[in-house]
Amino acid sequence: MGRGREPLVTCDACGRTVPRDKAVEYFKSSLVDVDQKEVVIDLTRRKVYYCISCAKHRKIFEKKKRMIKRE
Ligand SMILES: [Zn+2]
Repeated sequence: MGRGREPLVTCDACGRTVPRDKAVEYFKSSLVDVDQKEVVIDLTRRKVYYCISCAKHRKIFEKKKRMIKRE
């Protein structure tokens, strides 16, 4: 471990490991199909990270930029 200041996160879309400051934080809720008879909707939002290219691809990055501007 060279620099411990940059925690690594895994992109939820492509699985690539990226530094957290270069990743985009995103909350998503998941629909879990448990059984053919039973569909469980998981309403707890899961925090995921996307790398820049995946975030751009999913139009998440632009939203995030707007949020940063507000600060
Ligand atoms: Zn990615």
